[in-house]
Amino acid sequence: MEKLAQIAEFMGDEIDEHVSKLRASCCPVISEDQKRAGQSKMELPIYQAALPNGQRRALLKTLLTSACEKNCSYCSFRAGRDFRRQTFQPDELAKTFIQLWQKGAVKGLFLSSGVAGGGLHTQDRLLDTAEILRKRLGYPGYLHLKIMPGAERAQVERAMQLADRVSINLEAPNSQRLARLAPQKGMMEDLISPLRWVEEIRRKDSPQHGWKGRWPSTTTQFVAGGAGESDAELLQTTAYLHNSLHLSRVYYSGFHPVPETPLENEQAINPWRQNRLYQADFLLRDYGFDFEDFCFDLTGNLSLEVDPKLAWARDHLSQAPLDINQAELSALLRIPGIGPIGARAILSARRLGKLKGLEDLKALGVHTTRAAPFILLDGKRPATQLSLW
Ligand code: SF4
Repeated sequence: MEKLAQIAEFMGDEIDEHVSKLRASCCPVISEDQKRAGQSKMELPIYQAALPNGQRRALLKTLLTSACEKNCSYCSFRAGRDFRRQTFQPDELAKTFIQLWQKGAVKGLFLSSGVAGGGLHTQDRLLDTAEILRKRLGYPGYLHLKIMPGAERAQVERAMQLADRVSINLEAPNSQRLARLAPQKGMMEDLISPLRWVEEIRRKDSPQHGWKGRWPSTTTQFVAGGAGESDAELLQTTAYLHNSLHLSRVYYSGFHPVPETPLENEQAINPWRQNRLYQADFLLRDYGFDFEDFCFDLTGNLSLEVDPKLAWARDHLSQAPLDINQAELSALLRIPGIGPIGARAILSARRLGKLKGLEDLKALGVHTTRAAPFILLDGKRPATQLSLW
């Protein structure tokens, strides 16, 4: 808040007007409490993005317009909901962002938009904003650009030349589920095709064509639990996204009912389900798991009680523990309590000599309580194992 006060002083009345507009563009309903606290004027839509190194980056996460002609069943911005919509001109948003960035209030921009005037037109306005930032204002920092449903291939390519990250939200794992969540969006033509173009462009052209000589990373998001879909449906599509389209991240935004939408009476997602989906996603992306490795119940869902890696290990390693001194990297990654860093540390340590006890593994960053039931050390099960079951 202190920083925002400094910015307000710097920008005078303009900041009040622009911050109010920014906030209103992203948050259609401001509660009476928020109004009393003055948040309608001062609070920016800042998103603390997690970086791979564990640090956080404050991004201004905003919409070019909160007007939308689509009728997605779960969305607070859907056409027909009654609230005051806000629209920025591309140069207006670019200049407002640059002022906030120069003052240190934010470290990057995550720019999306409601669909107004069609996907092509909306994408053009997003690209115009990015062009102004990069070319006219010389902005060198982080930019995440959303690809609109209905965007053309040339627009996707231009976004890839300007952004550090591009994203296309699938919302649902297949067309049947999408019809419930977003009846006006086509799974293949609006959502999967642009993701495929990103991968094709990346393969065809040199990374030199991308911003700062590299192509942007790609992400997507599901509205988990919004369409009655099972975990198996979500993870089957997730496996395709990682294996064939090489997405950096898949996000599972937990469904929460929004008043005055067709899904307002549906149940919010159990946070544990969201947690299990993320665990399974990391197993697919970083641990060499395949979709077929997961244990689903009769409804196609993961267990809420046991994490998916432990469930796999109980089925496959309880009677056939892995020898820590002989297992390959891919096998080490299957053991609960051993992540990619720990697995590589084990391989390095083995070159210097045998690992003999749990203390050796602990020193390498292994969570030994989780790993012990599924391993052999020096040909024997670790001494603590029986007490853990
Ligand atoms: S297109 Fe986007 S903003 Fe518009 S209703 Fe659907 S999810 Fe909401």
